Order: sequence, then structure tokens, then C-alpha cells
Amino acid sequence: MKKIAYPCPCGGKVKWKKERVVQDGVDCGILDVEYCDKCGELYLPDESLQVVEKKLKQAGLWGVERKEIKFWKTGNSITIRFPVELVNRLNLTEVKKGYVYPEGEHKLTIEF
Ligand SMILES: [Zn+2]
Repeated sequence: MKKIAYPCPCGGKVKWKKERVVQDGVDCGILDVEYCDKCGELYLPDESLQVVEKKLKQAGLWGVERKEIKFWKTGNSITIRFPVELVNRLNLTEVKKGYVYPEGEHKLTIEF
């Protein structure tokens, strides 16, 4: 597996480490994870996510639609990083552009 260090939206560097991953209360074992040494944000690479997916499916916890995302301030804009499972399911890597509009005070809709 190729390990690429890329910058985190916070300005820090994302590094690799092995760590015990507990997702939704399910112990998924020691997995490769990416973490930011500045903001402490943790990301799961695809290979680890597949393990987590399998474990959560076994526990009957996979497929919950609602996922937490983080908003990062980059200059005057905001960067959102979508969860990999959502990206994979909707094939978002193939999408070049879309439209975003607010629905009320605390809801955004993205169309693509
Ligand atoms: Zn960071």
C-alpha cells in the first residue's frame, strides 16, 4: 500500500500510523489510519475503511445515512471533506461540478 503524506485543510501534515479503531462502539482492531499532527483529525484510508465496514456490517451498524462532517475555514471559504463511504456510494470522484443552496438556517442541499 502506497503511503502519501498530504496536507490537512488546517495547514498541518497528515501522517500515517497504526491505531486501534473503535467505530460506533465496535472494536475494528489495529488499522492503518491517517492523522493530522496539528489538529488531530483522524482519517481512515480505503483499506482500513473496508475493514471497518465489514465489522460494522457484522454488528448491524452499517448503512446509517447520517454522517458527521467537519467544516474547515480556508481563507474566506469553507472546505468540507466528505466521508469516503459517501464518495464511493455516489461516485463523487467522477463529479466535476454541482450546485449548493441553503434550505433554511441550518441545512444545505448539494445537487450534482
Ligand atoms: Zn489538520
